[in-house]
Amino acid sequence: MADTITRTNPIIERSEQWLDAEELRSSGLYPFFKPIERNVGSKVIIAGRELMMAGSNNYLGLALDERLRQVARDAISDYGTSCSGSRFMNGTLDIHEELEHRLADFIGKPAALCYTTGYQSNVGSVSAIVQPGDHIISDKRNHASIMDGIFMARGMHPGIHLHRYKHNNMDDLERILMKIPRDEAKIIVTDAVFSMEGDIVDLPRMRELADEYGAFIYLDEAHSIGVIGDTGRGATEYFGDPDLADIIMCTFSKSLGSIGGFIAGSERMIDYIKHRSRSLIFSASVPPANAAAVMEALRIIEAEPQRIHRLQEIGETVGREMRRMGFDIGHTQTPIVPINIGDNERTWLMFKAFYDAGVYVNPVITPAVPPGSALLRTSFMATHEDSDIEFFLETAEREGRRIGLI
Ligand code: PMP
Repeated sequence: MADTITRTNPIIERSEQWLDAEELRSSGLYPFFKPIERNVGSKVIIAGRELMMAGSNNYLGLALDERLRQVARDAISDYGTSCSGSRFMNGTLDIHEELEHRLADFIGKPAALCYTTGYQSNVGSVSAIVQPGDHIISDKRNHASIMDGIFMARGMHPGIHLHRYKHNNMDDLERILMKIPRDEAKIIVTDAVFSMEGDIVDLPRMRELADEYGAFIYLDEAHSIGVIGDTGRGATEYFGDPDLADIIMCTFSKSLGSIGGFIAGSERMIDYIKHRSRSLIFSASVPPANAAAVMEALRIIEAEPQRIHRLQEIGETVGREMRRMGFDIGHTQTPIVPINIGDNERTWLMFKAFYDAGVYVNPVITPAVPPGSALLRTSFMATHEDSDIEFFLETAEREGRRIGLI
């Protein structure tokens, strides 16, 4: 076995001497990589203890739905467990194409393209559509996968310009648009519902600005499909017009109960991206079970709109009650309810207080958010019972007072 201790190499030393996680583990506050032993939806078993899950993106509860499990089992029987190759070469199945047609219809765009993860969808699509000289204009709070798509684009083509505007601030966006020469290509990239803040992009104003300054809109609907809009079709439905965005992206790992992602847009745009996107061409395609599960999720979302309404009702209740108690939950309008704390120390303490009381939430610290903006991300599911929500709110109020957050 190689002896890594005696060999001197700055890369080895850097990792051998990195003790941040170890220190947190020994203080008993380490919150990451907690193995879930069982998941029954609104409850999970962690370290032999049952906790209420208030930190999952399984918004509609479909990841555990028996109907999705069954179609996934059937797809494994028909196609096996892996495609063993990329869509480009030997990994396209007829059900991938069927799924793409279903997604395009669902979203109201002519064509769609599936990727193996939501992360890859953003990295591969954002980087595929820009060329040297183009301008990418990005919200400062966009998801890391959008930023990584931009970094990849700029790594391949150093002549791409990046501009970042203040979070969901359309005046700041306009200030940037005004400075870019009219004849230079511009793309505005944004989350539809922001993953940490839970607020909704001002899409109608963004569209007006995009039209005025000749820009293209790329909209990430990861946390909005299945969550906002009367039938769960996301921000474009919420604002009443499917053409408010030029490309819509979404992941399968949240409301759609699976793993993977897609983009939807015009036929020519999708064909262009399909032949240029490195994360699509050089990575194996969505496994058959996961493709089949998404199709069943779409069917259920259309047949059972009451799930979406229940989720929205829970989001409103939690938001209203948390504000009433005096928590800082920012501008959320959705079932993503951040508890803004600021410093890491009280964030860990409140995480542990929730955990010990039997509630699982997500601590979010730098680099996921800017320094001094640490928060606990709580998120809710259509499958939560009223008693779960009451338990969450009682725990938040009691522990929030004890730790001095309210
Ligand atoms: N976009 C947003 C806004 C997200 O929140 C996420 C996941 N947290 C992704 C993209 C990536 O999706 P996935 O986890 O399915 O790869």
